[in-house]
Amino acid sequence: FQDIVEEARLSARALMDYGDHFFNPTVRLGVTGLSRAGKTVFITALIHGLTRGGRFPIFEPFATGRIARARLEPQPDDAVPRFAYENHVGTLIEERHWPNSTVDISELRLVIDYQRQNGADRTLTLDIVDYPGEWLLDLPLLNKSYEQWSAESLALSREPLRAGLAAPWHGHLATLVAEAQADEQAALTAARLFTDYLRTCRDERFAMSLLPPGRFLMPGNLADTPALTFAPLDLPAGGSAPEGSLWAMMVRRYEAYKDVVIRPFFRDHFSRLDRQVVLVDALSAFNAGPEALHDLEAALAGILDCFRIGRSTFLSTLFRPRIDRILFAATKADHLHHSSHDRLEAVLRRTVGKAVARAEDTGAEIDVVALAAVRATREAQVARGRDKLPSILGTPAPGEVANGESFDGNTEVATFPGDLPADPEELFRGDSAFRGLSSASAEKTDFRFLRFRPPLLEHEGAEEPALPHIRLDRALQFLIGDRLQ
Ligand code: GDP
Repeated sequence: FQDIVEEARLSARALMDYGDHFFNPTVRLGVTGLSRAGKTVFITALIHGLTRGGRFPIFEPFATGRIARARLEPQPDDAVPRFAYENHVGTLIEERHWPNSTVDISELRLVIDYQRQNGADRTLTLDIVDYPGEWLLDLPLLNKSYEQWSAESLALSREPLRAGLAAPWHGHLATLVAEAQADEQAALTAARLFTDYLRTCRDERFAMSLLPPGRFLMPGNLADTPALTFAPLDLPAGGSAPEGSLWAMMVRRYEAYKDVVIRPFFRDHFSRLDRQVVLVDALSAFNAGPEALHDLEAALAGILDCFRIGRSTFLSTLFRPRIDRILFAATKADHLHHSSHDRLEAVLRRTVGKAVARAEDTGAEIDVVALAAVRATREAQVARGRDKLPSILGTPAPGEVANGESFDGNTEVATFPGDLPADPEELFRGDSAFRGLSSASAEKTDFRFLRFRPPLLEHEGAEEPALPHIRLDRALQFLIGDRLQ
């Protein structure tokens, strides 16, 4: 019954959207990626470039001057926080600090006045929706019972690599009896230890593939609610929860999580997107080693599966295909020399490759790009003895420390990023010479995890300075170029 109500709501929504789109062509662009992938920086740079004369030679309607103007307008969804664009731009450009990252959904509307290729004046509305990728990985839970999810999560946490991280939670779990009377304190402790375990997996093993529920780490405004206070239990196979038991309490909260968190997200946001960009911090995965890369591969496959789920509701087939383009973008390419940018793309292509093959029935066009939404580095040849090494110059953020040297935020340093291998398989096998961003470093200093400050912008006359980037225009061309023909 719940599914029928859900479908009805979706149809009403889709009809309304359909009417809107008819009179007022609109693209709803979803921007997602796991925590710290670069969503906030990407959206800020994209809007800044479109509204303030960015340098986008590969974004055809912009480069040929057909875009007359792009301006911000109030967004249509009253219940969604506005993306704090002005604050983020101020932080990025004036303070030269990175803005605060995405922790919740937010939205912004950009209206683009342009001239069609045939000369007619038109307007395209671009609604940009920023949401944590962790939330997306929740969608598969809709098709799982508490018992299934519990068994799967538990099995995963007992695998060798995770078992150590899960030890404190497993210790508490062993003291719980699923059929015993419901106990709020037991549920609270279990949820807290389970969340700690999820967090350690994310922090220590880089990707949090296959580790829903996503809100446990990105609670938005639901922190400490019962819908987020549950955890897996060690359950007898085949049984059912006795009334009033801890088990029954967990089942109820797990179902509440679906009702309060997953279904509204699916209905109000995900199912209404037309285009999607998935940002990936692939360089961090390389640095963490082959295992993290396999983890990332699984996470991206999970994400693509979600798009398939998105299309299998009967509505999406009734009305129009919703998400028809998906772009996977490796971010922070400015940490590599330009000679490695194509290789970074090749690794990402290989990482999503299997998932794409499986997800062909998403019906969506899929592309891959390596980009830096904001380029924080310059390139130079730096002399080392008799050699000249292709280097990256950047200003480490204040407080960054490498090999005992602490940076004040005003000193530029040269780093020698290793070349990515021509064959992506080397990274997956772990036998690559690439051992992190400083592998080829002629010095001992490990600059691998240095965060550079955003760039200092050069003012030329009265003209507003543009933010430097790498291939952001290619991303734009793929994401909206065809809608501005
Ligand atoms: P979010 O969690 O996906 O919103 O991630 P953010 O957009 O906040 O980015 C996380 C961090 O990655 C930032 O604070 C920056 O340190 C870094 N970062 C993101 N984009 C870029 C980029 O284009 N170039 C560089 N050098 N660093 C970036």
